[in-house]
Amino acid sequence: KKTMLSDIEIAQKAQMKPIQEIAEQLGIFEDELELYGKYKAKVSLQLLNRLKDKEDGKLILVTAINPTPAGEGKSTVTVGLGQAFQRIGKKAIIALREPSLGPSMGIKGGAAGGGYSQVVPMEDINLHFTGDIHAITTAHNALSALIDNHIMQGNELNIDPRRVIWKRVVDLNDRALRNIVIGLGGPMQGVPRQDGFDITVASEVMAILCLADGIEDLKQKLGKIVVAYTYDKKPVTAKDLGAQGAMALLLKDAIKPNLVQTIENTPAFVHGGPFANIAHGTNSILATKMALKLADYTITEAGFGADLGAEKFFHIASRYGNYKPNAVVIVATVRALKMHGGVAKTDLALENVEALRNGYANLQKHMDTIRQFHLPFIVAINRFPTDTENELQALKEMLEAEGVPFAMTEVWEKGGEGGIELAQKLIAIVEKERRVHQELYSLDQSIEEKIGTIAKMVYGADGVEFTSTVKKQITQFIENGWDRLPICMAKTQYSLSDDPTRLGRPTGFKITIRELRPSIGAGFIVALTGEVMTMPGLPKKPAALNMDIDENGTIRGLF
Ligand code: ADP
Repeated sequence: KKTMLSDIEIAQKAQMKPIQEIAEQLGIFEDELELYGKYKAKVSLQLLNRLKDKEDGKLILVTAINPTPAGEGKSTVTVGLGQAFQRIGKKAIIALREPSLGPSMGIKGGAAGGGYSQVVPMEDINLHFTGDIHAITTAHNALSALIDNHIMQGNELNIDPRRVIWKRVVDLNDRALRNIVIGLGGPMQGVPRQDGFDITVASEVMAILCLADGIEDLKQKLGKIVVAYTYDKKPVTAKDLGAQGAMALLLKDAIKPNLVQTIENTPAFVHGGPFANIAHGTNSILATKMALKLADYTITEAGFGADLGAEKFFHIASRYGNYKPNAVVIVATVRALKMHGGVAKTDLALENVEALRNGYANLQKHMDTIRQFHLPFIVAINRFPTDTENELQALKEMLEAEGVPFAMTEVWEKGGEGGIELAQKLIAIVEKERRVHQELYSLDQSIEEKIGTIAKMVYGADGVEFTSTVKKQITQFIENGWDRLPICMAKTQYSLSDDPTRLGRPTGFKITIRELRPSIGAGFIVALTGEVMTMPGLPKKPAALNMDIDENGTIRGLF
């Protein structure tokens, strides 16, 4: 058996092409390309204007079943599928989120694919990349500074310092910053109040950057951010403070999509990385729109399983991006299906065909969900080295018995070569079927109806319970004119229900909505089913402790 190299070893062996060459093959003009070194570039938004009359290529969404904590390989399959398209002579672009430094320093693992399906230069992508996340941090904190300065300088807007909901952000896992007191030190140091930090990727500015379709739209959306309430509980926005111009200025480069390549030189946009719980969890719509103009096939991914990622992709990202997705890939693994069938996380490497059969119901629910959105799909079995022939055979038989299309992918081990069957079957599907996805709710429905529809149709719940806090909030939201927005569900990714221990395909449950949060700038209402960690902590042995760099620039411990 051959030994697998680590992700960083594979990435460092990649023969990267100068990014100009990748851009040229895509038909990007030289003056539309802004180089960030040899292998990274930003693409000017002028390109969208130049190509506005060109027909869009096909859009493929990669989603998954409910994952194990290790992830089921959505990013890896997304990258591998792009490489496979290229191998069979198709013009494809991958569109992915950019990783946050918080998890990289904390738990091992970047977010740039894995094995022989990765985007490169992976050290850069996982560290400071083109500085977008730092720009978002600064734009976000500039607004914080303007809020506290406003309160200090006479507080003309009558902001209640106890009701400032705009926290500060930093792109690290640092639990000590979750709750802090600011403005201490006397009258010259500001007005003391309780504050806190979130991780940058949880910032509404990140969600806005990913949903804006240009600088003007960005500015409008930034202006709508609700930062606080007045003493008489009226919302105060960034626009009331006059902050949106400066914030947009700070984001003038961050808004431009980043072009990189895979280890097989397939072009990839890696741009924007919003949380997949309190935000919508997909890369920027500008990157996806560019990809659609430049390639025949755009492959993108949405965070967590289809219950969260795909649902938000259809109701939020596709609405604001005006996308018409053509097909869906549902990534499934033997490991995760066994977990849904009752196997403990520590025993997932052991053969257990019966558990696999029991856990299959989870995949069936996600297939049903995609059917409800009215789109064709294919199941990608992402093969892990621990999968046994018996298990793979059993999975194939169940899929065959249902007559659903599927393909085994070995893109982690073999790169694009391992995804050719998936690519070919997908092409057959999108060429044959031209369907338009159907949303499950319309915006003019009430907040309760919208959440109820998602809970029943996507999670398989019997209904929804709204706490008394939420009922009061709904009345307020209606008064503020915020009730006609799409819903962004914040729910555990491990279960279809709001209880992470209920695996498989649970039935006979209700979900509970505990809080609503207005993300009016981004353009959605966040519905929280439980506690959502917006500032993670570091584990006992942080990944950062293994990291090092030597005189020759050799990096250790990043992956
Ligand atoms: P997701 O996007 O679903 O969270 P990733 O693509 O990031 O998942 O993969 C999660 C982890 O699993 C990564 O470390 C990746 O290298 C690894 N991985 C993915 N697919 C395979 C596979 N087929 N065999 C072994 N490891 C894999």
